[in-house]
Amino acid sequence: MNIELHEIAVRDLVAGYEDKGDEGVVGYGGKLDIRPGCAAYKIASSYMDGSPIRQDYLETALRWIGNGADPRFYMALHQHDPNANPLWLYFQQVVNWAKATFPVVRAPMKKVPWGLLYNKFAEVPQDPKALEARVAKLVADSDVQKKSGIWEYVLDGDERHLGIRAFDDNTRLEAYERQHGICPLCSTHFELSQMEADHITPWRDGGRTVPANCQMLCKDCNRRKGAK
Ligand SMILES: [Zn+2]
Repeated sequence: MNIELHEIAVRDLVAGYEDKGDEGVVGYGGKLDIRPGCAAYKIASSYMDGSPIRQDYLETALRWIGNGADPRFYMALHQHDPNANPLWLYFQQVVNWAKATFPVVRAPMKKVPWGLLYNKFAEVPQDPKALEARVAKLVADSDVQKKSGIWEYVLDGDERHLGIRAFDDNTRLEAYERQHGICPLCSTHFELSQMEADHITPWRDGGRTVPANCQMLCKDCNRRKGAK
């Protein structure tokens, strides 16, 4: 069967999909029951965004179990399954793992892609107390602008999740003037537009996004420094 994924909505693939308006969505003949007060909502509402009365939870669960793929791929593969038990069991495992690993609930956690983290890290033993200490510090760090990225960061160490505050235009210009347009690493003169702002002491080593910690590097030197 040739399935044009872009033309198929989840509602066409879930057997018995029924949108009951304010009462919520029922699928698989009620086996995957997504409603306020339903099992999925009760276990996951502190850890998930979206409305339980629409198909948000279902789509998120499908995205997670498909490791980020379009939810319709999973549905296309499983449309003839007798029920959604594997998806429901997987969903419960994800939520239980998130709660066991990060028991302290904070608002931005609703935006964390828990399933994708579960797929990657469920087998790796974690120390919830040590993780909580790191999370608490990062939540209070004003240089961390994307708070919802904190939980991914403490697991995989990729700073890009955190949206570390960038130096503003004035700070960049002031650093450029102090250096007389010279890149301190290769001692070559560049135009401002050819340079990038750099934390002299990297953020991960405690360097803040403050003027005294700003230098302008040429793009090549900045890339080399970043790669270290
Ligand atoms: Zn340079």
